[in-house]
Amino acid sequence: MPAHFRSAELFARAVQVIPGGVNSPVRSFAAVGGRPVFFARGAGSRIYDVDGNEYIDCVCSWGPLILGHAHPRVVERVQRVVRDGTTFGAAIEAEVEMAELLTSAVASIEMVRLVSSGTEAVMSAVRLARAYTGRDDIIKFEGCYHGHSDGLLARAGSGVATLSLPDSPGVPADYAAHTILAPYNDLDAVRAIAQRRRASIAAIIVEPVAGNMGVVAPEDGFLEGLRQVATEIDALLIFDEVITGFRLGCGGAQQRYGVAPDLTTLGKIIGGGFPVGAYGGRREIMAMVAPPGPVYQAGTLSGNPVAVAAGLETLRLLDEPGVYEGLERTGESLERALAAAASQASAAASVGRVGSMLTLFFAPQAPRDYASAKTADTDRYASFFRAMLEQGVYLPPSQFEAILVSTAHTSEDIQQIAEAAREALARPPR
Ligand code: PMP
Repeated sequence: MPAHFRSAELFARAVQVIPGGVNSPVRSFAAVGGRPVFFARGAGSRIYDVDGNEYIDCVCSWGPLILGHAHPRVVERVQRVVRDGTTFGAAIEAEVEMAELLTSAVASIEMVRLVSSGTEAVMSAVRLARAYTGRDDIIKFEGCYHGHSDGLLARAGSGVATLSLPDSPGVPADYAAHTILAPYNDLDAVRAIAQRRRASIAAIIVEPVAGNMGVVAPEDGFLEGLRQVATEIDALLIFDEVITGFRLGCGGAQQRYGVAPDLTTLGKIIGGGFPVGAYGGRREIMAMVAPPGPVYQAGTLSGNPVAVAAGLETLRLLDEPGVYEGLERTGESLERALAAAASQASAAASVGRVGSMLTLFFAPQAPRDYASAKTADTDRYASFFRAMLEQGVYLPPSQFEAILVSTAHTSEDIQQIAEAAREALARPPR
């Protein structure tokens, strides 16, 4: 049983001065019991806490670290760039390179604007969609998380689901009224809303593969259907690819499923572990963003040199042959390992997986929407999480989050996770 004395000490200090002791709710261990572990160092697939315990990291900072921790080439590039200054708040060459790379990798993106977080990217894309269409309402799916901006928190999955908060106080009711909710994978519901409010809908926003209610794949025809409905009612289709962008391939989920949105939001991986976001899409829409257009959006640290350098190096490494095949194999073997461990223990569990993102749900069938995801046994997940942590495997501290693996995860890592899972699931839940 690893000791967590120093983590406990730090947490005691943290709760005095930081709400809940954490700077983002998903870091709290509230849903799985116990106190958060404080980390000191990462290398490849491994992370080390302040007490010196080692873990296989199955969270990878919620997605950015697709190459694992402290990839030598990313670190080297960052060290080189940082010596020349950390920010200018002015134009730099690397941001042009980044924009060129994003527009060539993601087919539907003709122009792109860099921001500093996924939340900002989505908030800006929604504003732009409203301006472009001259309409106010958006259709959002229950269990999809699109950052914490007002209006997008309704049934938002992720930390909101973990903490069982339906929405958030502090969001004016008239903002939330412009967010119309539909169940994920339910095209009929979307069609019904579109028919009822066709003249008021600016955009349909979706995680093309849901990662924030645990991993839920789009059913056949769902994304195509959304494309069709959006086109029919002259609304924009926004794919929030903050997780899936450069995780499911360089062209994102849109390439994998062959559906082109009007606007795309990115984040996480494109910053190589530094704060970044981006939104982009069709040229005529993006031309409405200031300064050429009237839609205001700005940022002191947007296109930050260090973040862009880390992102560029990451994207270059991802473009090497065989990378995504390798990630697919890692995801697949982890799925097989977890499913086998669950079946050996006769646990009612299922795995939702697309590529290198996956969730072991303690529900007999892989969920297709938020309502079915919520039937998962969260107590069982909590005891599984704790038993895995004791054995040196760091999972997301919530049933409603994705395991995200990296190119640094080896078959030995997967084997070690498999053994830990067998042991964890054989124990009576406590
Ligand atoms: N969209 C999606 C799909 C996300 O998963 C997240 C964060 N997990 C966000 C937006 C918000 O990104 P950030 O935390 O960088 O603001």
